[in-house]
Amino acid sequence: MSLMFEVDGKALPADDCSWLLIAPCGCPCGITVIGRGDDVLATAEQAMKAFVPNAEQRRRDAKAGWKVRLGLRKEVHQLVDDCKHTPRWGVEKTPIPEGHVWARQVVSVRRGNGRRKHLVPVIGVENRSEGRYGAGETPALCGSSTWHWSDKWWDVNDYPECVRCQRAARALPSIASTPGTDGAPAVVTVELPPFTEEGQR
Ligand SMILES: [Zn+2]
Ligand SMILES: [Zn+2]
Repeated sequence: MSLMFEVDGKALPADDCSWLLIAPCGCPCGITVIGRGDDVLATAEQAMKAFVPNAEQRRRDAKAGWKVRLGLRKEVHQLVDDCKHTPRWGVEKTPIPEGHVWARQVVSVRRGNGRRKHLVPVIGVENRSEGRYGAGETPALCGSSTWHWSDKWWDVNDYPECVRCQRAARALPSIASTPGTDGAPAVVTVELPPFTEEGQR
């Protein structure tokens, strides 16, 4: 590869360089090579696209302070896999209420799928491999409702979180938050309001 890149004032061949993904706290938390076969990530923008494929998520990440910078390929050894900042990576995770998962409406290509993921009661999320079938039309925390929620990783991972679900999850009363470990979402216990018979006939 004949492309040259400048790192710390030195011109280096692309093969010696890498794009580093920098978290808002300043820790490098991802790395990608510049040349991948015929595919060359020549600009920071292209590199960011490789790290975060979803356009809306990329806009949100940029606003939150995520960025890429050119570095040396051998910096892979300096990657931080255990950021010591609080919150981790400088990002306040959305608390996930007990019994809920992130899920996205997945209907069909023709009828259109959801552009964001929502916090949905597990009971309303179909997962055939775990023997779960959707319980019918189920509303997410924000009120959006569908018969077709999926929490499969390829249906949710690259999609942005619904802002109204985020807000609803943070506003839930009596939240006892247990910080998640190893990048796992925080586990939150929600005290449900006492059941009343009001309105029942
Ligand atoms: Zn950090
Ligand atoms: Zn939502």
